[in-house]
Amino acid sequence: MQVTCLGGVRTVTGTCFLCRHRNVSFLVDCGMFQGGRDVEKRNRGRFPFDPSGISAVFLTHAHIDHSGLLPKLVRGGFRGKIYATAATEDLCRIMLPDSGHIQQMEAEWQTRKNQRLGQSPVEPLYTVEDAERTLPLFQEISYGVPFSPFPDLTICFRDAGHILGSAFIEISFPGESGNQKALFSGDLGHPGQFIVRDPEPPPRADFVFMESTYGNRLHRPMEDTLEELAGILRQAARDRGKIIIPAFAVERTQELLHALHKLQTEDRIPVLSTYVDSPLAISATTIFRRHPECFDEETLRVLATGDNPLEMPSLSFSRTAEESQALNELAGPLIIISASGMCDAGRIKHHLKHNLWKPENHVVIIGFQAQGTLGRKLVEGARKIKIFREDVTVAAKVHTLGGFSAHADQNGLLEWIGKMDPPAGQVFVVHGEESISLEFASRLKQRFAFPVQVPHVMEDLWLAEPSRDEKMAALAEGDRLVQESAENVLHRIQALSERIAGQSWETDPVLLHHMEKELRKIRRHAEKLGKMVGVEAD
Ligand SMILES: [Zn+2]
Repeated sequence: MQVTCLGGVRTVTGTCFLCRHRNVSFLVDCGMFQGGRDVEKRNRGRFPFDPSGISAVFLTHAHIDHSGLLPKLVRGGFRGKIYATAATEDLCRIMLPDSGHIQQMEAEWQTRKNQRLGQSPVEPLYTVEDAERTLPLFQEISYGVPFSPFPDLTICFRDAGHILGSAFIEISFPGESGNQKALFSGDLGHPGQFIVRDPEPPPRADFVFMESTYGNRLHRPMEDTLEELAGILRQAARDRGKIIIPAFAVERTQELLHALHKLQTEDRIPVLSTYVDSPLAISATTIFRRHPECFDEETLRVLATGDNPLEMPSLSFSRTAEESQALNELAGPLIIISASGMCDAGRIKHHLKHNLWKPENHVVIIGFQAQGTLGRKLVEGARKIKIFREDVTVAAKVHTLGGFSAHADQNGLLEWIGKMDPPAGQVFVVHGEESISLEFASRLKQRFAFPVQVPHVMEDLWLAEPSRDEKMAALAEGDRLVQESAENVLHRIQALSERIAGQSWETDPVLLHHMEKELRKIRRHAEKLGKMVGVEAD
């Protein structure tokens, strides 16, 4: 099998692996690049493959950096199946149309800007309609049940413990010395996370594509993080301040609600009015309620008592823009949880603009902040930031809590791969900022005996020497193409000869024109043929 890393290598977004096995091409994830204008330009180019030639997509989880280009794939002609767990499918039902809406809004905004400059309009990357055409292609998969969508390939999804429905994917394929297995980790969860189970131990694999988002860091223990959060909330309550928490709509918002519920029921914080201000987070919360099959034991135990952290009496949801704006008028103390998680879009920007300049307020950062985002600037201690082209002084206290991560830290990653017995054949470190992936790769080399590599974008990796059958198939395909081209050239020469026969072409300019056209076509075919057999046309 051949794997080409199209994104999510030496960076944390845009995860997409193009896999080719014999005559089948498929993708593992089809993610969007995120984190500033330069990075996001990478979403715009053509796919380096023909989407209509892709037979299937195996989707690890619903996060947009893994799923966000699926509608673009469909727009480009993809008609295969998208295999995912039921919870991932449900989350994509809200996240992909939401992303389509954002794409359309951005294109409209850019078009208006261009028109003022006399420039041409901008097409959206994809539309809500493209996203909706993507949804019927989903095919539900259960954890731990192997299936064979194509001859020779067996796929199995296992719980990655990262977000609701997340999976790592095992792919078994025949190699030269019997069956081999490749494993795509997707994003691996942080053991002890709220709601979802811990990641399953990995089965033995010959090749592992392993994420490294936090490959250089250790998270604080959850209990310390909870105590730190409780301290901030108690302080804010005394100051009558507002607590603004940017959170990813999916998973992080719901985990945070579980944490607040725990702190309240254990009497560690006063009961504070809490507002979830993100339509996407509200829809995602409904989906969480529908998928108890993904919950860990602690969550099931809390639910069994009749208590539901997602339905606390102190909790309100603001769905409309008016409800969101009304939060500006309310007096503290209160908690506002809003998206986007990296503060670069959505309603959180309004809340930051209204609250950052007041010293009694608190901003609590609980998730990963990519380079170039507004959230990253806050974490790095900026004293002034630009929101909606206006300078805003940062007078509120900004806190960063590491323990809420939905990603395993360095120890979590090392423990996970260390459970593989016997050890992996080879590990490819992916999904991390470049310096972090390199650092994590050297950690792996120190600890384990297997070869470790940090692939580059567009790098082709042969997971196994092509088998005799694969070589024969490749040769046969090459022969077929050469033969087809040769036949085409001969056919054109023949047709041309027939036209010339019996004609006096000095007196027939139309024929001359046709001949020139035909000769150009023949030349193109000859060049194509030459390329296939390694000969340059002169
Ligand atoms: Zn993720």
